[in-house]
Amino acid sequence: MPLRNVYDPDNIFAKILSGEMPCVKIYEDDETLAFMDIFPQSKGHLLVLPKAPSHNLLDAKPETLAKLMPTVQRLAQAVETALKPDGIQISQFNGSVAGQTVFHLHVHIIPRYEGEDLDRHAAMPADIETLRPLAERIAKAIS
Ligand code: AMP
Repeated sequence: MPLRNVYDPDNIFAKILSGEMPCVKIYEDDETLAFMDIFPQSKGHLLVLPKAPSHNLLDAKPETLAKLMPTVQRLAQAVETALKPDGIQISQFNGSVAGQTVFHLHVHIIPRYEGEDLDRHAAMPADIETLRPLAERIAKAIS
């Protein structure tokens, strides 16, 4: 598959953005949406998406990235305040060989805790009810 300009409007994140599929929402504005990753690699793993469609970073418009990164920073700061992790990993994958599994641009915010390894990527589904209180704590810490 080519790495860019092959956006599929039926991808799961497009369906979340249209309201066709649910998510555990943390934050939304006109340009971006943040919700809990349902296969979290650590406690508090969340995703930030631009609403504008692009396959990944390579075919995103610069103005889309300019709207996305301030939300990534705000959510990372909220995670820091709410969950007090020892570190925060920010990651983003382009192409399935690089680890991309959903083909609508998104950024992972993954809290890291001293002595704890990450769970496997996109592997173990969380109990949604454990994600809701985490989402609320993070949302309350957004400044
Ligand atoms: P990537 O592999 O970078 O494309 O990341 C996609 C991420 O989306 C993975 O971490 C998955 O766990 C996560 N994911 C897949 N489906 C959903 C969903 N319906 N709601 C929330 N997160 C999801």
